[in-house]
Amino acid sequence: MDFVILETFDNYIEANLMLGRFEEAGINCWLKDEQTATINPVLTNAIGGIKLMVAKYEINEATEILNTLKEIKRKSFACPYCGSHNIEYITSNRKTANLVTSLLTWMLGNYAIGLKQVWHCFNCNEEFKEPVQLNNEDFYTEE
Ligand SMILES: [Zn+2]
Repeated sequence: MDFVILETFDNYIEANLMLGRFEEAGINCWLKDEQTATINPVLTNAIGGIKLMVAKYEINEATEILNTLKEIKRKSFACPYCGSHNIEYITSNRKTANLVTSLLTWMLGNYAIGLKQVWHCFNCNEEFKEPVQLNNEDFYTEE
C-alpha cells in the first residue's frame, strides 16, 4: 500500500492526538520518525518533524478531516484583545532574527536557543502568551 505525508508535527503529543482522530475515522495511517523525535527531541527539526502518513487512496478524505479538525481547533481559541479567531502560535523572532540565530534555530530547534513561542493575532497584531479558550468545542479532551 502506498502512503503519503498528510501533515508534519514538531510535537509528539499533538502528533499522537491527531493520529487517534484519523484512526477513529477509519483512515489507514501511522506516524513516521516518531521514534527519532521521541528519543532525541533536538533531532526533530533536523528530520523535518513527525510525519502523519496516510494511505494514498484515502488522501482526499484525510485532507477533509484534517481541514475540519484545524477549523474546530481554530474556533476553539480567540484573541484576548479583539476576539478574533485569526490567531496563530508562532516563534517570536522577527525582532531579533539574524543569520546566527537562524542557523542555530535550524540546527538545534527553537527551544535550544530560547526563542519564545507566542500567539499572534493577525486581526489586531497583538501578541499574547495564552489565547482565550472557548468551551463550545473541546478539541483535545473530547472522547
Ligand atoms: Zn486580536
